[in-house]
Amino acid sequence: MVPKSTTLCYNSIMISEIKDFNLEELKKELARRGIPEFRASQVFHWLYKQQVASFWEMNNLPRDMIKLLEENYSLSAVTTAQEFISKDDSRKYLLKLKDGNQIETVLIPNPDRQTVCLSTQVGCKFCCRMCASGLKKFVRNLTAAEILEQLLYAQKKAGSRITNIVFMGMGEPLENFDQVIKAIRVINSSEGPEIAARKITISTAGFIPGIKKIAEIELQLNLSVSLHATTDELRNELMPINKTYPIRDLVAACQNYFQKTKRIVTIEYVLLKGKNDAVDDARRLAGIVKALKGKVNLIPFNPYTELKLEPTAREDMERFKYWLERDQVPVTIRDSRGSDIMAACGQLLGKAGQ
Ligand code: SF4
Repeated sequence: MVPKSTTLCYNSIMISEIKDFNLEELKKELARRGIPEFRASQVFHWLYKQQVASFWEMNNLPRDMIKLLEENYSLSAVTTAQEFISKDDSRKYLLKLKDGNQIETVLIPNPDRQTVCLSTQVGCKFCCRMCASGLKKFVRNLTAAEILEQLLYAQKKAGSRITNIVFMGMGEPLENFDQVIKAIRVINSSEGPEIAARKITISTAGFIPGIKKIAEIELQLNLSVSLHATTDELRNELMPINKTYPIRDLVAACQNYFQKTKRIVTIEYVLLKGKNDAVDDARRLAGIVKALKGKVNLIPFNPYTELKLEPTAREDMERFKYWLERDQVPVTIRDSRGSDIMAACGQLLGKAGQ
C-alpha cells in the first residue's frame, strides 16, 4: 500500500517517496505493478548501499522498469537550503522539505566515528525552556523517507560511512513513533545502511507512552532521557511535559525499559547556573539514577538569546560531576560541539542564520 502521507500529486500523477517503503512494502508495491519481488532488493541496494541520485543509475534494472519508477516515485524528499561549518568541524545542514518546511541535521565527525544527529518533527510540541527547538511551533511529523534522507545526505557529505545516530535534533522522536521506528528498521537492516541498533540513540523529553512502546519492541536501542531537574516543581517549570509525565512515573518507565532490554538508560542533565546545579540537586539526581541503574551525561547549556537561562561555569560542572562520582554514579560531561553555528544540543531552530 502506498503510504498516503507522502504521496504527492503533480499534474494528476501520484508520486510517492520511494524511501517511505520498507523492503517488504516495496516488494508488494512492485508486485502490484507486475514486477518480480527480487527487483525490490535491487532497488534497495541502489538506494541505501550506492546512494544513487537518479533511477537511471540503477543499471541492472530493465529500462521500462526505470521509466515506471521515474514516473511514479520520487528519490529525494529533501534538498539543501544551507550548510554551516563549525570551527570544530561539525556541520549543520538546513534542509528543505517538499512542502517548504525546513529541518536541521548535524554531522559530528570524530577520528574513530561519524555521528549524525537527526530531526524527527518540524517544530516541537513540548516547549522545554532550555531548547531553541521548543520555540518553533509544532507543524508536523517527519515521514520515514525524510528521516532516512537526513542520514543519507549527511553520509554523502561526510564521504564515509555514518557509524552512530542520535535522534536528538528537532522534535520528540517518541511522539513520531511509527515513522521513526520504520526508518530505524530500514537503517538497521542488512539491505539498508546496516547500522546496528546499539549505535542508535533515541533521546526523549520523557514521553512515557513512547518509552513503554520501545521497551516492547525487540530492537536494542540506546535510550537517553532529558531529565534536567530532580523535583517536579522545577521540572514543571523547565520541561512542561513533566506536568503530564512526572518524575516518579518517568523513573518507573525507565526501570521497565532497562528490565525489558537490559540497555542502560542515560540521563541527560543540562547544568543551569543557580537553577539545578546545587549539591542537593546532585544528591537527588544520584538517587534517581541509582534507582534505574543508569548513568548521567552532564551537558553544558548552550545559550540562545531568547532563552533566559545561564550556563553553569566549567569548574562548577566539574564539582557537580565530583558530587555524583562520590555517590558512585557513572557520569561524563558531554563534549559540546558546533555551538558557534547553533548546531549544539538544544540550538536547532530549523531556520537560516547562526
Ligand atoms: S528538548 Fe526535545 S522535546 Fe524539548 S523542546 Fe527541544 S526538541 Fe522538543
